[in-house]
Formats: sequence, C-alpha cells, structure tokens
Amino acid sequence: MEPPDRKVDYMNKSYDLVWKIVLIGNSGVGKTNFLTRYAWDQFTLESRTTIGIDFACRDVVHNDKKIKLQIWDTAGQENFRVLAHLYYSRAVAVVILYDITKHLTFQDVTKCWMKELDEHAKLENPVLMLIGHKSDLRHLRSVSREEGENLAAKFDMIFMEASAQDKTNVEEAFESLVAAISKKQQFLSLHPQPVDTSFKLGPLPNEETQSKKKKKKACC
Ligand code: GDP
Repeated sequence: MEPPDRKVDYMNKSYDLVWKIVLIGNSGVGKTNFLTRYAWDQFTLESRTTIGIDFACRDVVHNDKKIKLQIWDTAGQENFRVLAHLYYSRAVAVVILYDITKHLTFQDVTKCWMKELDEHAKLENPVLMLIGHKSDLRHLRSVSREEGENLAAKFDMIFMEASAQDKTNVEEAFESLVAAISKKQQFLSLHPQPVDTSFKLGPLPNEETQSKKKKKKACC
C-alpha cells in the first residue's frame, strides 16, 4: 500500500513542503527590494531600513511538489544580533547579497556574514547563494564578476549577479535555489548524516575514565 502523502498546513492551505530562506548582507544592498520583487513584483527607489525581522512568501511547484517559500529579510542592526539564532533556525537556504557598486559590502561577505553563518547556522547546514546585486548599475561597478565567482567557489555557494530594479536574474536566482535545496534534501534522505554531537554535554564520569584509559594505552 502507498504511504499517505504527508502535507503541511500553513494558513489553512496544504503544502508538501514549507521552506525557510533567509536573506543577509549589509544594509542598503537591496535585500528588501530583492524580496519584494520576487514575492510581489514590486520595487521602490526609497531606502527602507528593515525594522526587526520581516518575511514574505511565494508558492512554487517543483518536481510535482507544492512548496511554500517563506523568505526572511532583515537589516544588520544591533537589535537583530540578539535574535540571530532565531533568524537562522530551520533555514534551508541563506542568500548573501552584496552591492556590485560598493566594494565594502563585498568585503563584508567574508569579514562579517560568513562568520555570522559559522556562528549561528552551522547546524542547519543551509544551501548558500551569493548575489552580486544591482547589476543594472554596471557602469558604477567596483566588484568584478570574477571576484564574485571566486568567492562563491571558495565557500561552495551558488553565484549570480541580479537586479531587483530591472528584474535581471531574480526569478532565476530563486529557481536555482529551489532546485539546489531539493537536490540536497534528496541526497540527505538517501544518505542520512551522522548526528552532530559536538554540543553534547561532556562524558559521564565513567565514560571519561574509560576514554582516558584508552588514550593512555594508545599513546604509550
Ligand atoms: P536593504 O537595506 O538591503 O533592504 O536595501 P533596500 O532594498 O532598502 O534598498 C536600498 C536602496 O537600494 C534603495 O534605494 C533601493 O531602491 C536601491 N536598490 C535596491 N535594489 C536595487 C537594484 O537592483 N538596482 C538599483 N539600481 N538600486 C536598487
């Protein structure tokens, strides 16, 4: 007998999957507009600093599965730091954006955002995507495409240049992300990963004595 389809209920609608995706990057790189362009096809020239945490959703179908993408947006404000662990909790993908016209925002990907992920999202092991944003401003470019590609390759991230303003690669970015998440989940279901016990409490007194004894033997 076929097992019954497991569905997820979300706001009274039924989905096969609900995926949380988070956007990070320096303030002003265009995270909010990247999100509103994808979720609602909206763009604004006014800068809106995100207050706290906000998200928008879009439904997609991939491999005959109905998936709700819940995409979270935040600014790198101080109050966000306190909530950082919640922001990354259960995220299946993280999109890091930088502004191709501002080299500092690119440098901060390594200096700040990769460290932040290492600190807060290691256990989630999300799919990573790097976006060189505002590609419509190519005449003001200060980060070459090659620099972006090299950095992405170094950290095993999907890479694209995109523009929320002229819509370049916004749809495509999320399509690649969905495909990559799906591929990773299929792989993980076939190859379950060992549980990470690095955060486990120390060994019980007996275990400790045993392991010390074993170590001594090995050394001598
Ligand atoms: P956030 O702080 O990262 O959420 O950035 P916002 O989405 O608020 O955008 C900051 C500024 O960049 C606003 O003035 C936007 O209009 C502008 N902006 C966002 N995306 C683009 C884009 O793709 N191209 C251009 N030229 N400007 C953009």
